[in-house]
Amino acid sequence: MNAEIIAIGSELLTPFRQDTNSLFLTKRLNELGVEVIFKTIVGDRLEHLLQASRIALTRAQIVIFSGGLGPTEDDLTRECVAQALGRELRRDHEMVTALYTSAAAMRMRVSENHVKQADYIEGAEILKNSRGSAPGQWIDTVYEGQRRIVILLPGPPIEIEGMFNDHCFDRLKQVLPEEHIATCELKLAMVSEPAADQRAAKIYKQFSDIETTVLASPGEVQFHLKTRGATQEEAETRVDELASLLEDEFTEEIFSCTGESLEQIVAYFLQMRGATLSVAESCTGGLLAERITRISGSSRYFMGGALVYSDQLKQDFCGVPPQLLKSDGAVSHSVAAALAEGIRQRCKTTFGIGITGVAGPSGGTSERPVGLVYVALADGKHTEVVDRIFPGGRERIRWFATQLALDLLRRKLR
Ligand code: AMP
Ligand code: MG
Repeated sequence: MNAEIIAIGSELLTPFRQDTNSLFLTKRLNELGVEVIFKTIVGDRLEHLLQASRIALTRAQIVIFSGGLGPTEDDLTRECVAQALGRELRRDHEMVTALYTSAAAMRMRVSENHVKQADYIEGAEILKNSRGSAPGQWIDTVYEGQRRIVILLPGPPIEIEGMFNDHCFDRLKQVLPEEHIATCELKLAMVSEPAADQRAAKIYKQFSDIETTVLASPGEVQFHLKTRGATQEEAETRVDELASLLEDEFTEEIFSCTGESLEQIVAYFLQMRGATLSVAESCTGGLLAERITRISGSSRYFMGGALVYSDQLKQDFCGVPPQLLKSDGAVSHSVAAALAEGIRQRCKTTFGIGITGVAGPSGGTSERPVGLVYVALADGKHTEVVDRIFPGGRERIRWFATQLALDLLRRKLR
């Protein structure tokens, strides 16, 4: 089955608030095997809401509304869905009484618009809200000849999440035909998206029953595979078949098949080998150390390092010879190597990494353009240095540089 989510609220159409409820709902729906085929964000205007509702009801089997169930004038979801379905609004008198009772207990008065929260769409089941005051609604109906499940849920994340988990998840499970879904996520480092896709497409195109999505971020490409089967085993076998063909094609580049980050994989390899690491960073300003130390327990293999932005500290902390800095320049093959070797000796670690580059946007020359980065990895016997010219702005270039460093180490440890 498929679903559309309609997030309601004019604030969600500003640069200041984001619709996060649909992310939660999509995750839970996917767990049930329901595919979200559309997401709509609509402001608090009845005519727009009506348009969005009617479109959704024609194209999706499950339509979930998020927000607009409060007591204020701009909360229009109840009225709108009733109108779209051609049903009346009814008032739940028990709930009105409860509202008055709880207000009286607090010596407060009930305002006219507050009572609106006791309105429900004819034929709807009311979903209790144990975390707030606006109840939700569940309507199993037929719209233009098609069966539709229509669910109204409140906007505050804590309320919608609680209500979906408590009242909707199991109820949906009962409505849905039994389906088995298998997924797999392959992560590749330091390969470009077009290059990766070109090589992968000839393989995944032979699996028309598997949905393959290619996602890219700086220094990383992910292949997401998803399929359905008559049994869980059948679905998983099929996904594994494609995954192992892709693993054969990208033996060098694939670093994870089970969701780990590059720093987690490096951590895993370092610990397996009982090896330690130190870093000397210039243009990345500590970003590499930050990524490594994000992982709890990293003190077992990461000793630390130096942030050597100036030439002076490159000499003082890593013993880079001053004449080398003069002759080759701080951003050079030889200085990257000297940084890696120097920090390794100074920190007495198995591996040392040195990074130097031009993160920009200023400071580039024709010889050393913005984006030029040297990364060196020293192990005491051999020092490997790679250079790249990365595209993009300062943040992107710095991220790419740390990605390159982690991947260099991963390949070494593999
Ligand atoms: P409402 O139910 O429309 O009165 O929304 C109440 C509050 O819930 C809003 O002020 C937002 O802070 C929050 N909210 C509403 N919709 C969403 C959404 N789609 N994602 C995240 N927060 C939301
Ligand atoms: Mg609202």
